[in-house]
Order: sequence, then C-alpha cells, then structure tokens
Amino acid sequence: RAKEKGRNDFQIFNTDMKSVSINRLKLESELRRAIVGDEFVLYYQPQVDIETGRIVGVEALIRWDHPGKGLISPNYFIPFAEESGLIVPIGEWVLRAACKQNKAWQNQGYPMMPISVNLSMRQFFQHNLKGKIRHVLEQTGLDPQYLELEITESMTMDVDHAIQSLLELKELGVNVSIDDFGTGYSSLYYLKKFPIDKLKIDRSFVRDIMVDPNDAAIVATIIAMTHHLNLKVIAEGVETEDQLHFLHENRCNEVQGYWFSPPVSADELEKMLKTGIPNASAASVHAK
Ligand code: C2E
Ligand code: MG
Ligand code: MG
Ligand code: MG
Repeated sequence: RAKEKGRNDFQIFNTDMKSVSINRLKLESELRRAIVGDEFVLYYQPQVDIETGRIVGVEALIRWDHPGKGLISPNYFIPFAEESGLIVPIGEWVLRAACKQNKAWQNQGYPMMPISVNLSMRQFFQHNLKGKIRHVLEQTGLDPQYLELEITESMTMDVDHAIQSLLELKELGVNVSIDDFGTGYSSLYYLKKFPIDKLKIDRSFVRDIMVDPNDAAIVATIIAMTHHLNLKVIAEGVETEDQLHFLHENRCNEVQGYWFSPPVSADELEKMLKTGIPNASAASVHAK
C-alpha cells in the first residue's frame, strides 16, 4: 500500500489535473529537500570504441536515492526540475560530482577518458555558464578536455544565443555533443552553424535498424554525414549484436547501450575500467 502511494506521488504527467497539481507541490518540496540533503547519486554508462571494444568514455546519469522510495529514474523528475528551475542547482551538483569522480579515477591511475554530462537547456542558457563551468573545473582539478557536455536541441532555442554559448564552451576547452540527435527540430540547420564535436544518434532510430529499412537508412546517412562534417558519432541504445554489426559496417565510431552495460554505480564501473572493457555478461557469452 505504501509502495502504491509512493508511485502515485511521481505520476506528475497523468491526465488527472487535480492530482497533478497536488503532486507537483509535493514533488517540488521533496526535490528541494533532496538538493539540500544530498539525495542524488550518479550512475555511469560506458561508451565503447567500436573498433577496439574498449571503454573510451562514460556518461554520467543522475538517479534520486529517495529515502523512502529507493532509486528514482531521471525521467520522473528531470522534466519537472526543468519546468520549475530546480534543474539549475541539480545540474550544478551533477557537473561537480561528475568532474570530481573523473578526476578521482585519473588520480587512481585509470585510463584518462572524457566524462559526459547532460546539460538542460535552462542550464545551457544561464547567465555566465562559462564562468560557472570553469569554476567547477578549477575546484575539481579536471582538465577541460576530459569533460563533455551533452546538449539536446530544442525547437524554442534561440539559435544565435546557442552559438554564442557553444563558442564560450569551446573556448574553455570542453567537448560538446548533440544528444538524441534526429528527434529535434531543424537539425541540419543547427548542424551547419554549431561548433560541436559529436553527434549522439537517438536510441529510437537504433532500436529498429534491423527491422525497419527506413531507420537503417537514416542511421547510415547520419553516420556518413558526420564523417563528411568531421564530427564524431556515437549510437545510443545498442542492445543487440546485430545492431552492433550494422553500426560497425556503417563506420560508426562509438557505441553505448545495454549490449555492453547499463548505467552502473561508480564501484561497478571501476571493475570494468580495470580491464578497459565493459563486462556485461551478455556481451561475453555471445562474443564472436
Ligand atoms: P539520455 O541523456 O539520452 O541518456 C540515455 C538514456 O538511455 C539513459 O536513461 C540510459 O539508461 C538509457 N539507455 C542506455 N542504453 C540503453 C539501451 O540499450 N536500451 C534502453 N532502452 N535504454 C538505454 P536514464 O539514465 O533513465 O536517463 C534518461 C534521460 O534523463 C537522459 O537521456 C537525459 O535526458 C536525462 N538525464 C539523466 N541524467 C541527467 C542529468 O544529470 N541532467 C539532465 N539535465 N538530464 C539528465
Ligand atoms: Mg545524454
Ligand atoms: Mg540521448
Ligand atoms: Mg534522451
């Protein structure tokens, strides 16, 4: 019963508007408490070089370790955090925690690799973004080349402002990638103008590449385009060996997905970093 109630507290997008407003208030106060009480935790998902099979980066993904409800997925609170503005303090926490963790891994002698952090639009457009990120890099001692910021294009984005912010980030020396590529609006227009390093092909295209020829064509075309534009490309949501083969044949650079590993705790990730390869049991069982 308690569990049932707990679940309902977070169904902020259900159609019952009355319960929506009640739950939003509760969610907002709980999120504020979570920020102060340090209830967030980062999980890490390896990003793998498709040629060597080795881990060449990790994406930091936030979870909410709720005292009564256990680990809560970002899908339940990030959209609300964005709406309410709470994403700014939460995002700052993520950035600092991720940089600190990557620096700690480097100090422990693990191979140097970039850590990717998701940046919400609200964070991306905040005043003095460059100064804030520089401050975190200085505080944690992480070299900017080992930080990658993932930005999701949005249709309400002010393009000139976005270019300005991206240029400032590039001046800092961090890497920038476009997340969920292909799902946004007017992607090619942005691509031409944005100073970015990498595209992340959205999971929704990768999912059906083996069954839907249109998705296969789209993915192959995006990859070919990135090569012409001198961008790196990573495919998200790789779950099967067939998908991996397709991506390899089409010269995708990097892959990320459950086939290699789901997002895991820092401890679990360290086990993989010791060997340099993801240790999802499925991958080794079915290895060629
Ligand atoms: P995203 O940035 O596109 O992250 C990838 C999501 O896909 C992650 O979900 C990951 O667990 C999931 N995923 C990875 N491989 C596979 C796969 O093979 N199959 C399937 N079905 N899923 C896979 P997660 O961790 O639940 O995060 C969801 C979204 O929440 C993220 O999408 C991102 O938009 C947002 N998010 C997560 N952490 C943060 C954060 O610190 N800040 C911000 N602003 N947003 C965040
Ligand atoms: Mg991401
Ligand atoms: Mg994504
Ligand atoms: Mg996404």
